[in-house]
Order: sequence, then structure tokens, then C-alpha cells
Amino acid sequence: MFSFTPTDEQKALQQEIKAFAAAHLSGGEELRDRSQQFDRQWWAAAGQIRLPGLAIPETYGGRGLDPLSTLLALEALGYGCKDNGLNFAISAHLLACVVPLWLYGSEELKETYLPGLCNGELIAANAMSEPSSGSDAFQMRTLAVEEASGFRISGAKSFVSNGPVADGVLLYAATDPERGYLGGITAFWLDRRIHDYKTGAPWNKMGLRSCPLGELFFDNMNVDKSFLVGRLGRGAMIFNRSMEWERVCLGGCHLGNMQRLLEMATQLVRDQIAGGAPRHERQAISYALAEMQARLESARLMAYSAAWKMGQGKSVSREAAMAKLSISELYKKMTLMIAGLFGAAGHPNGEAERSQRDAMSSTIYSGTSEMQKNIIAQSMGL
Ligand SMILES: Cc1cc2nc3c(=O)[nH]c(=O)nc-3n(C[C@H](O)[C@H](O)[C@H](O)COP(=O)(O)OP(=O)(O)OC[C@H]3O[C@@H](n4cnc5c(N)ncnc54)[C@H](O)[C@@H]3O)c2cc1C
Repeated sequence: MFSFTPTDEQKALQQEIKAFAAAHLSGGEELRDRSQQFDRQWWAAAGQIRLPGLAIPETYGGRGLDPLSTLLALEALGYGCKDNGLNFAISAHLLACVVPLWLYGSEELKETYLPGLCNGELIAANAMSEPSSGSDAFQMRTLAVEEASGFRISGAKSFVSNGPVADGVLLYAATDPERGYLGGITAFWLDRRIHDYKTGAPWNKMGLRSCPLGELFFDNMNVDKSFLVGRLGRGAMIFNRSMEWERVCLGGCHLGNMQRLLEMATQLVRDQIAGGAPRHERQAISYALAEMQARLESARLMAYSAAWKMGQGKSVSREAAMAKLSISELYKKMTLMIAGLFGAAGHPNGEAERSQRDAMSSTIYSGTSEMQKNIIAQSMGL
């Protein structure tokens, strides 16, 4: 049965991560944002409490959390660490790369790579989007041609979060372009030290600037069969499953960020009231904050319920889409409102302004809001 109250263990987990994130992952966020700074020292620090491996069984070096506890942990990370780019980099690594490697990789791949991916030694990236395919990701042009001992892969991937710094890549390539989504896509694990691919320079982007994002290029790259993740032609299913995890759990970071911003804004308004702001202004602002509080709570419960259902081993395609849509659209709206509330002081380089830019991409990655609506509409028979 789903209980709407976290257990004592889950509360302790959240306390631990909030405190750790505030003490060891925070500081200098403005500079990290401005200079698009990514530093492996933050990643190694996160590895000390196995944040990059939250959902991975302890036997492979992770923390063995179920999906709901993973979501709660990421919510605590989003609250405790003000560097949303780092939070996103860790979450994308975990949910779109490490989880599918754990669920579908061979025992040999899991034993070789999962410990380092959980303890902060290794960074992973998920390479699906291409210059000419995004929402229609399965129309990819990157081609893997089967040969005697493995595959020869050519093509390019774009918008790869962590791509410029990754040690391992979960790559999706077409092994049978005519079949496409229906059995023509295959997943591969790439090791930076073994596989001969090129990385582009990190792109200059609007938000999440401390998470490096860029292109990967493959020119007749050889990949041995032992690097297949799942069976030949099962890539679409693997990708969809990883997106369910990402849509359900990554929003935890946004929930934590929104909660902290709301508390900040509430304190600001309380101070203004104490300073004698006129009554009509108080009500206009307090209504806006009250509405945000209510919407935040409903988005949070939607995500908790999707995560709980996922933990029961059920398919959550519709629930994941609804949670992702609700959280990301609210994130954009709330950060815009709160940045405005701070007036001119909130305009340049404040946390509210930074979060507003970070929130903009939340309605794009893991599938745009329109794609989430397509999934929901389809589940309604529309
Ligand atoms: C910060 C960030 C990080 C990312 N990280 C990764 C990553 O790690 N790995 C990776 O592979 N990709 C990543 N992406 C890419 C992301 O998955 C794509 O941007 C996304 O799928 C949308 O594709 P697109 O940008 O090509 O937009 P398009 O697909 O060209 O869409 C443009 C617009 O058209 C709308 N649209 C398109 N098709 C439809 C349709 N059928 N019905 C209704 N509306 C439609 C979209 O909703 C959107 O508004 C990242 C993107 C961002 C912004």
C-alpha cells in the first residue's frame, strides 16, 4: 500500500543527503554557472555517499534504493545543493545510463563498470538525440553494421549531457533502420579508453551550465559484441524504460529546488510584511505563494505515486509522463514568478534567476512537454 508519509528510514536518508549536499557539494554556484565550471571534485564528493549509484544494488556498489526512495533522495539533493547543473548531471548519469546498464547489461559489464559509476570514479552519458532527430529519436541516422566479431558504428549524437567529460556512454544506434522502433535500435556501452570516438567542445547554454553538454562523433568505430547492452534490437525498449526512471525520479531535484525557493520567497514576503507593506500587496503576493505551495504539493504527490507504482514493478509510462509534465511546467512557472518577486535584486546572478534559466530546459529533456502530452493522450485512447 502506498503511504503518503516517508518512513523513518526515508526521512533519515533525506536529512543525510541535505546535510551532505549543503556541506560538501555547495559553494561558488554563481561562478560555476557563469564559467560553465564542471569539476570532478564535486563528482568524487557525491560518490562518497554513492549519490551517482542511489538505485543500484549494494552488491554492485550502489545504495540499493527503490524508486520512491531514489526520488526522495534526489529531492533532498535538489534542496541541499544549489548547483542545479551538478544535480542534473548526477541524476542523468544515474537514471538514463547507470540504471539501464544495471537492468540490461551483461554480468561482465555490470561487474566491470557499476562500482566505479556508483562511487564517483566514473561519469556516464546517454547518447540518443542527433542533429536531425530529437522528439522523433528513433529516426536516428547513427548506424551500427554487424560484422563477425562485433559492430562498426558511424554517425553523430548531439545534446549529450556529460558527453564531453564522460568515461562511459550508453549509445543507441540503428542496427536495422527499416524496423526502427520495432526492433531496429540497439544499445551499446562505450568505454572512453577502449572505443575510438570523438567528443565536441562543451556547448554554451542557457541553463544547467555546470553540466557539460556536447556532441559525440563516430567514424567506423569498432565495438565488440561483449559491449551490447541487452539483446540486438532491444534498444527502444531499454531507452523507454530508462526514460520512465528519468521522468519519475529526476523531477525530485526540481521539487527540492522549488521547495527551497518557495521558502526563500516566503521569508522575503514575511520580512516585507514586518517592514509594513500595504495590505493589498500582501494579499496579492500571499495568494500567489499559496497557489504555488498547493501546486508544488500536488506535483510532488504525483511523482511519489508514480515512483511507488514503479517500485511495484508496474509499467508507469502514463504516470511518469504526467509527473514529468506537471513538475517541469510548474518549475518554469514558479521560478519565473519568484525571480520577479525579488524585483531588481533578483535579476542578475541571484539564485532565483539562475534557477529560472535552469528550469527552462526541464520541459525539453527526457521528452518535451508536448511529447508527454502525446503519451498521456495515447493512454486515453486519443
Ligand atoms: C539540457 C538538455 C539536456 C539534454 N540531454 C540529453 C542527453 O543527455 N542525451 C540525449 O540523447 N539528448 C539530450 N537532450 C536532448 C533532448 O532529449 C531533445 O532536445 C528533446 O528530445 C527534443 O528534441 P529537439 O530538441 O530536437 O526538439 P524537436 O523534436 O525538434 O521539437 C521542437 C518542438 O516541436 C515539438 N514537437 C516535435 N515533435 C512533436 C510531435 N510529434 N507532437 C507535438 N509536438 C512536437 C516539440 O515539443 C518542441 O516544442 C537534452 C536536451 C536539453 C535541453
